[in-house]
This record gives sequence, C-alpha cells and structure tokens, in this order.
Amino acid sequence: MDRSMSNAATSNGWEVRLPSREYLNLAPEVRAEIDGYLSECPVKLGAIAERLGVKVLLSTLPRGTSGQIAQEDGEFVIRINRHEAKHRQRFTLAHELAHFLLHKDRVEAEGGWSENVLLRSGQPANIEYEANRLASDLVIPSTALAEATAEYSGPMTSEIIEDLARRFGVSTAAMEIKLQMA
Ligand SMILES: [Zn+2]
Repeated sequence: MDRSMSNAATSNGWEVRLPSREYLNLAPEVRAEIDGYLSECPVKLGAIAERLGVKVLLSTLPRGTSGQIAQEDGEFVIRINRHEAKHRQRFTLAHELAHFLLHKDRVEAEGGWSENVLLRSGQPANIEYEANRLASDLVIPSTALAEATAEYSGPMTSEIIEDLARRFGVSTAAMEIKLQMA
C-alpha cells in the first residue's frame, strides 16, 4: 500500500486522524506484512494474526477479563473472551496484536498477561496507550477511513458515524476517536 497518509481534511469541520506514531514507527518489513490487510473493510484481523504467526482463540475467560496474550511452547497465543460483544472482541484482538508488534520482548519476558475490561494488564500506562493507538490504526486504518468518508457529503452526523462504525466493525466510540474535529 503506497498511498499518501496525509490528513484527509474536509470542509465539514472534521478530519480523519493521522496514523499513530506507533504505526508509523513499525519496521518497514512489519508494515509490508500487514499493510495489505489494512485496505479491507472491515480489516481481517484474524488474517493479520495468522500472517504474523500468532494463534488466536475465542475462549471462556474469567469474568472481567477481555483478553490474554502469552507465549506458550514458543508460540504466541491470544485469547479473546468469547462472551463479549463482537466489536469489543475485535478491538481486544487488535490491542493484543499491537502488544505483539510493539511489546513482544516484554510479553516474552513475563510469559504473558491478562487484560481487564479496560484493556489494562498491570503494565505501565504508556504500554497500554501505545497498544490502544496502534489497535485503533489496525481496526480503522486512516487511509481506508478517508476513502470511506469520501462517500458521504454534508456534515458529519451521528448516523454517519454509526454507519462507518458498522462498516469497520467497531464501536461508535472508537470511530469518534478516529474522526477528530478539524
Ligand atoms: Zn494491553
């Protein structure tokens, strides 16, 4: 994917947020592995995981646990709480994939960790912020969102945000974060 990541400013008072520095700082070879998936809508997160060699399981996790990432027998495994809502599961998976991409060594050193419903794992806050920012780029890639928003005209309404959220398989809250006031 060699499309411009410039801000998709519009005349309607909002714009698509730029990709995070976490995404922009990924190694070129990593970007090459995942970028092809980021032009699809909704993004096939399972396919990205497979490409990265990460196993994903929908599991029955303790109440209040949204996801887990661990290294087991030399293999990275992500478990997603099967009882949570679909778009919620998608964001959790993106968050765990972000940990894999950004904090692999840390996960490896500790063997793994569990995330509560706020996607906090007991790691320092900046670790979680980084994972959330990259997760947002995985579920709502800026370029794909800029293309999708170009199909609408007029002011951004809650109906449009809901429609976009549905198309990308995310919560309206996650979509609102990605559409910032210009
Ligand atoms: Zn986390």
